[in-house]
Amino acid sequence: LAFSIKPEELIDAVRGLRALNIRGMNVTIPHKEAVIPLLDEIDPLAKKIGAVNTIVNNKAVFKGYNTDVPGLIRMVEDDGGFSISGKKAMIVGAGGAARAAGIALLQQGIKEIYLVNRTVLKAEKLAADWKKYYNTTVITGALSPDFYSQYIKDIDLLIDTTPVGMSPEVEVPPVIEENYLHSNLLVVDLVYNPAETSLLKAACRSGAQTMNGMGMLLYQGIESFKIWTGRDIDVNTWWSIVDNL
Ligand code: NAP
Repeated sequence: LAFSIKPEELIDAVRGLRALNIRGMNVTIPHKEAVIPLLDEIDPLAKKIGAVNTIVNNKAVFKGYNTDVPGLIRMVEDDGGFSISGKKAMIVGAGGAARAAGIALLQQGIKEIYLVNRTVLKAEKLAADWKKYYNTTVITGALSPDFYSQYIKDIDLLIDTTPVGMSPEVEVPPVIEENYLHSNLLVVDLVYNPAETSLLKAACRSGAQTMNGMGMLLYQGIESFKIWTGRDIDVNTWWSIVDNL
């Protein structure tokens, strides 16, 4: 079941879930950070990320997890055949999804991260949060060719965590200008609707390998399901459901 909850109703919503003794739930935009103080326990990975997307009710103890990180790693490494360790990456955006993307890369041993965002201050704050846990170099800057053109030619992986190009606003220029994209890149857009954003179309034309965010969505759901039920879900069954949507 999906529920649309206003920010000012989040406390009541969690209280209601407790009263109804609901076993588990996912949390999404814009509640992933705000829900943390309402929970009894936070898994160490979710604490590091600063965002919860999965809650499990263990005998009235509400514990928060983040399954976006394992979901993204599985998509990039298993489906993309891309080994993150030792590579250079650029992350576009500095919101909740970027928090998860950064920790996923840092956990897997990325060599360097270039974090670009429309609001540079937010990127700087996020990089400072990562510094508490990892020594990896993180260079922050503006979402402008003046900044990213210096680094993009040397990177292996580009992850767009902004909603730019998401339905219904699909007819927008790619978040990174097409002429800076190149064929040595894996370009990942966390948006999955549409399946091919303007960024992915541009990346394709530039000869880059591309992936949208559907795999991450599926894999985080599979991880959440395991937390709630202790059971694995057959991935192929899930992919066939998605393919037939
Ligand atoms: P968020 O916390 O609101 O952050 C959005 C980020 O995008 C911010 O850094 C924001 O920049 C930037 N941004 C927004 N509009 C922009 C624009 N027009 N131009 C440039 N930058 C812009 O949102 P989120 O939770 O990170 O989610 C972002 C996207 O990721 C959504 O489309 C969501 O569906 C997707 N997502 C997918 C998965 C998956 O499983 N595939 C999981 C999580 C999220 P400022 O800081 O300057 O505002």
